[in-house]
Amino acid sequence: MAADQPLQKQAPGIYRRRIGDVMVTTINDGYLDIPFDILRGVTRESMQNAMHEAFRPGAPRLTVNAFIVQTGGRTILIDSGGGTNTVFSMGLLQENLSTAGFIPADFDTVLLTHIHPDHSNGLLGPSGEALFTRAEIFLNAADIRFWSDPGLRDGRSPAAMPYLDSAASLLDAYRAQLRPAEAGEVAPGLTLLPLPGHTPGHSGYRVDSAGETLVIWGDTVHVPEIQVPYPEVTSEYDIDERLAEESRRRIFDLVATERLLVAGMHLHVPAFAHLVRSEAGFRLVPESWSVVV
Ligand SMILES: [Zn+2]
Repeated sequence: MAADQPLQKQAPGIYRRRIGDVMVTTINDGYLDIPFDILRGVTRESMQNAMHEAFRPGAPRLTVNAFIVQTGGRTILIDSGGGTNTVFSMGLLQENLSTAGFIPADFDTVLLTHIHPDHSNGLLGPSGEALFTRAEIFLNAADIRFWSDPGLRDGRSPAAMPYLDSAASLLDAYRAQLRPAEAGEVAPGLTLLPLPGHTPGHSGYRVDSAGETLVIWGDTVHVPEIQVPYPEVTSEYDIDERLAEESRRRIFDLVATERLLVAGMHLHVPAFAHLVRSEAGFRLVPESWSVVV
């Protein structure tokens, strides 16, 4: 490669950060661009202005991340990105896991925030086979119940319709490894926080270690440029939009009041930030890249 021909490929989407004695690694799976039409709650003009203010031209972009948590001899994956079967702009999980030094067999635990394909389909190989064969898969029992209901096929929940097949593939492939989870501790120092609405079992995970805390808030925001200043903005993906908004406001209030570090599946890499109150509502303060792990 000649010096005047720079590589066209981005550096690996990996970032390590310690929370007390726990190592957390962001693994980027790519991104997903969505039309403004999917979002509602404020005018299109307000959304476009918010994007403009954030210097983000074009369509709202959902960065898609998973996180590795290493604690007390456990190797835990939280969400898995969309894998290679969904949308072309996702599917970097395996490559980035490998660059970070992991293979699927290293993981003893997978914690899912919910079962949407951009969070769970990365657990499946090209033929729909389970890739994380050694892991117990924890998922809020409310999501397992909801997505396992054959009655959903009658269209009673329009927001669920596009995802019924991907949810079924995931549940089928991992039936024997699934562990229905409730609020509370799911692994040492890791607590499931129910944040229902986006899906009935949508959950965050809180990591506490040696006096430090991280709240991994799942899909509390899909488009940070819009939903942080306007927490009332819901999306067509939300199974219950009002409840999703209520959960978003509740976790915003908690992390802003207690000044807790947050990480998000759709926060831009490296995906760690603080949320602060501003005159209008809230403002996200992304954490700067740390050279020292
Ligand atoms: Zn989702």
